[in-house]
Amino acid sequence: MKVILFGAPGCGKGSQAKLITKDFGIPQISTGDILREHIANQTEIGKVAESLINNGQLVPDEMIVEIVKERISKSDCKNGFILDGFPRTIGQAEQLSSITKIDVVIFIDISINEVERRALTRRICPDCGKIFSIMEKYAEVCDECGAKLIQREDDKREVVRKRVDQYLAQCEPLLKFFKKRKVLKTVLSKNSPEETYVDVKQILLQVHAKRK
Ligand code: ADP
Repeated sequence: MKVILFGAPGCGKGSQAKLITKDFGIPQISTGDILREHIANQTEIGKVAESLINNGQLVPDEMIVEIVKERISKSDCKNGFILDGFPRTIGQAEQLSSITKIDVVIFIDISINEVERRALTRRICPDCGKIFSIMEKYAEVCDECGAKLIQREDDKREVVRKRVDQYLAQCEPLLKFFKKRKVLKTVLSKNSPEETYVDVKQILLQVHAKRK
């Protein structure tokens, strides 16, 4: 099953992807995580991506499409995958549709106020990648590995604004694009990932049954 998770930054795509992987055994492909890994390793891609990301801008379509194309050709994707953070532009969506056929796009609907609140209170563990919300529970160190938590450069206030503006500019055209192809399903982002996942799972079970 090939799934796209779509929604504003901080809507919880990553948490949903992890729950889907556990239940359906298909890998999560997060373009944000792949880019952050390139930055950590200072690859050619990482060098280009770093300043763009820290400024709340997107990396060029050609670059990201190449990354995704290569990733989905790997053997662990033969039964499907979850795209998290891709496609983000119509150009990316068009190129993706010429590479593969997607079964479902799940749009995680959330208010923009909530997006800003979540991003500003998000902290991550630089070592294991675990995500924390200091709004829900204040923490300074990771409860899994003990590392000091950090705030992503792009979760700082000015950058969050830019990321939200840039998302809003692409959101409607992309929703229209997916709707036209009859693959769009919408769920409301609830208070916890587990609550939201009840709806996500139901959609995926239906899609899964239809494919058989
Ligand atoms: P979030 O979903 O919280 O905005 P991500 O981790 O998905 O964050 O992405 C972080 C940054 O990586 C984005 O703001 C953007 O600069 C870059 N990026 C990720 N995916 C894409 C993509 N599909 N196209 C262009 N840039 C991307």
